[in-house]
Amino acid sequence: MKILVMGPPGAGKGSQSQKLIEDYDLTHISTGEMFRKSYERGEKLGIEAMAYIHEGNLVSDEITNEIVRNRLLKKDAERCFLLDGYPRTETQAEALDEMLSEMNSKLTAVINIVVDKDIILERMVGRRVCRNCGHTYHTKFKPPHKEGICDKCGGELYQRKDDQIDSVRNRLNIYESKTKPIIDYYKGRGVLININGMQSFDAVYRDIKKALRDLT
Ligand code: ADP
Ligand code: AMP
Repeated sequence: MKILVMGPPGAGKGSQSQKLIEDYDLTHISTGEMFRKSYERGEKLGIEAMAYIHEGNLVSDEITNEIVRNRLLKKDAERCFLLDGYPRTETQAEALDEMLSEMNSKLTAVINIVVDKDIILERMVGRRVCRNCGHTYHTKFKPPHKEGICDKCGGELYQRKDDQIDSVRNRLNIYESKTKPIIDYYKGRGVLININGMQSFDAVYRDIKKALRDLT
């Protein structure tokens, strides 16, 4: 299975991807997470990318395509993967097509999680992430058992700098102008699945699983 998970920032891509990779045994490829990890390791790539990320801007297509290409060439991505947060521009969507055709492969499904703007703002501002394992919480919708501490690994929870209101607004504008149009790119290929993301975590997941079952 080769899946893309799309949707505006804060739609629930990461939360749903976490469940999907466990259930379907997929290799999780999140470009945002790759940039954050690279930054934490003090690498040049991560430090350069973070300057864009903090402001809510996109990292260049060139750099992003390159890290995805290298990641897809690894053995664990050969059979099945889930791409979360990539592609985000038409240039990236075209590059991904090229990569897949070189691999003699194609997408099984493109899951598009649909959420209204006012809900997104509340979700993003309340998001907290584990510094250690990257697991995601929400102050109101998914609080950890102990405030500020990750249930999974005991790591420290923090608020991403790009989840502060000014970056969030910029990210939403960029989503509308650069990323949303590529949904049409996948329409007509018979792989696009639109999911109502304005439901509970479990209801969204139930709908995704049902749509995937219907595909096969
Ligand atoms: P994305 O990866 O699309 O940016 P996340 O999965 O990180 O989004 O979700 C953004 C925030 O919204 C997180 O704090 C998450 O806990 C919360 N969230 C995700 N899905 C739901 C949902 N269905 N109901 C309520 N809160 C949600
Ligand atoms: P995410 O974790 O998916 O919310 O991504 C966090 C940030 O990383 C984004 O706001 C961008 O700045 C950057 N980023 C992640 N994926 C991409 C991508 N495919 N293209 C460009 N920038 C990206």
